[in-house]
Order: sequence, then structure tokens, then C-alpha cells
Amino acid sequence: MPVNSEIKNIKIEDELRVCPACGYEYGFHTSFLKVNAGRDSPIKSTREVYQVILICPECGARYDVGWRVSFTESENRVLRTTGHQISTL
Ligand SMILES: [Zn+2]
Repeated sequence: MPVNSEIKNIKIEDELRVCPACGYEYGFHTSFLKVNAGRDSPIKSTREVYQVILICPECGARYDVGWRVSFTESENRVLRTTGHQISTL
């Protein structure tokens, strides 16, 4: 399945589970896209900021719901889990 290069901005209402493009009902994959990746930014940030991008597993449509995350170099890198994979379903 080719990845659609266009990223659409969407709003989450009660739940975001169904792909607006194709109707796939079982949630999304996620990816992290570096903000300003590939662009020259005059502002140097000490922390990298990433957009959380949702990708439809069925049609490859990509969505930006406004989530922004950053990762620190400290001990916060270790993500504790309960033995289950993190899922966006
Ligand atoms: Zn889809």
C-alpha cells in the first residue's frame, strides 16, 4: 500500500476510529514526523518536536490531529509498558 504524501488536518470529535477517506473502521497506525523537517528554520529549538501523524492502514491516508510531542535526552526516554503493545485502536 503506497503511503499518501498529503497530510490532512482533521478534528477529533467523540472518537477517531473510522478513516474519513475510505471508511476503514479499526483505527490508525501512527508515525512521528519531525516538525520543520527538511526546512530551514530560523529558530533553533533545543528539543526536537514531532507531529504525531495517523496513517490509515487500509488506504494510507495520513492525518494530522494536532498532536505534538517532544522527546528528551534524559531518563524519560524509557517508556514503561504493561506488557501490551501501545495501540491507537
Ligand atoms: Zn483509509
